[in-house]
Amino acid sequence: MKVEKLKPSEQLCKIMSRIYDSKLTTVSGGNLSLKDQEGNIWVTPSGGDKGRYEISDILKILPDGKIEGTKKPSVETGIHQSILADRPEFKAVVHAHPAGLVAVSLLRELPETMIIPQVANSVKNIRLAAYGCPGSEELRNNVAKEFKENKQTNVAILENHGAFVASKIGLRDAFGIFKDLDFSIRIQAKAQNFLGKRPNLISQEQLEHYNNASCPKVETFNQAEIPEKEMQLRELICDFCERAYRRDLFTQNIGVISSRLNSHSFLITESGADNAQLTVDEVVKVRGVAVEEGKIPSKSVTLHKKIYDENPDINAIIMAAPENAMVFAVTDLEYDLKTIPECYIVLREDITKFPFGATINQQEDLAQYFKLKSPVAIVENDCYICTGNSLFNAFDKLEVVEFSAAAVINAKLLGSELKPINQDQVKEIKNKFGIF
Ligand SMILES: [Zn+2]
Repeated sequence: MKVEKLKPSEQLCKIMSRIYDSKLTTVSGGNLSLKDQEGNIWVTPSGGDKGRYEISDILKILPDGKIEGTKKPSVETGIHQSILADRPEFKAVVHAHPAGLVAVSLLRELPETMIIPQVANSVKNIRLAAYGCPGSEELRNNVAKEFKENKQTNVAILENHGAFVASKIGLRDAFGIFKDLDFSIRIQAKAQNFLGKRPNLISQEQLEHYNNASCPKVETFNQAEIPEKEMQLRELICDFCERAYRRDLFTQNIGVISSRLNSHSFLITESGADNAQLTVDEVVKVRGVAVEEGKIPSKSVTLHKKIYDENPDINAIIMAAPENAMVFAVTDLEYDLKTIPECYIVLREDITKFPFGATINQQEDLAQYFKLKSPVAIVENDCYICTGNSLFNAFDKLEVVEFSAAAVINAKLLGSELKPINQDQVKEIKNKFGIF
């Protein structure tokens, strides 16, 4: 069941285990809150196993301050209460200590928030809250002050601690902002380490153009029954989506999959779908220029359609922004394909970088670019587009993209200069694996 449809106590358990499973907290760190329609605030308890909370562990704080539950509330409950009281538009708050957010908290600096569009759009007027001992009135006041005095602010970094993220939509949304910001900081750290300078940023103007591009109004069709073959493909898309999420190739919000059904129709993930638990209902059928009634496909749907129309051999497309590979998308560093034979065999000869916004204003160029020798494209500060003759094949490319990028970054950390395979060795690979 969708997280948003669960009871508040179930949502807290679900999101806390999602935070833990995403390696964004230890078993003992972090706390969550969610305000329900009656004004009750549901909070996680103090201590316990953050990866394995049960509904009976969750506490309910009534508007009159009375607490229902068997456990002691989290030591930071006061901060949650202050944020939710001072900014009544917020419904949920997430707090934990993941490595990216803690890194900037140790430097007592604010991270760049214009590296990827998802963070540029969701993080507003990020603030730095002064240090205070965990559980103290001082820390409560320091954090509350940032949210109270800055009416746009939805994220505060706590000096030498972690971050608080609040959402007007709900707990899953707060987690999404929290995760994507931490992810963006990790990209920033790796890019800066590699390059010795700050990564390329998206300008406000570019962001506005990107946001204003909406799907053209299209016809819809009603599909009463889903044929068996189509259902199998929907299930396969869900399977690969969940796998991409589990392997940190997708985040909850970032990542799109589509797959061709036949010459005139394909399936694509729904706009705003939860990549952590995509269901077959969140996959949208596109037939000609019409889409399944009642559903909104990913905003990249027109690009996918153009790629399929232009390339009859392409049967699957995955758009993703994995952490290591993104270092090459947010800097001017070239993605080197001549690292190991597997990289060259799977990704072939060319990975071209397209400018930010190309998914909107260079769709024809992108559609014509994809060939057997160039199955993957980079869109600066946005994503990798991996194509293949099957979902497995496109997913394989995505994994090789990320693994090879991680290897190159590790090589850089080891300190010596990378030695690529040479032209003769490339020729040998081509002959052996029939690459022409
Ligand atoms: Zn904390």
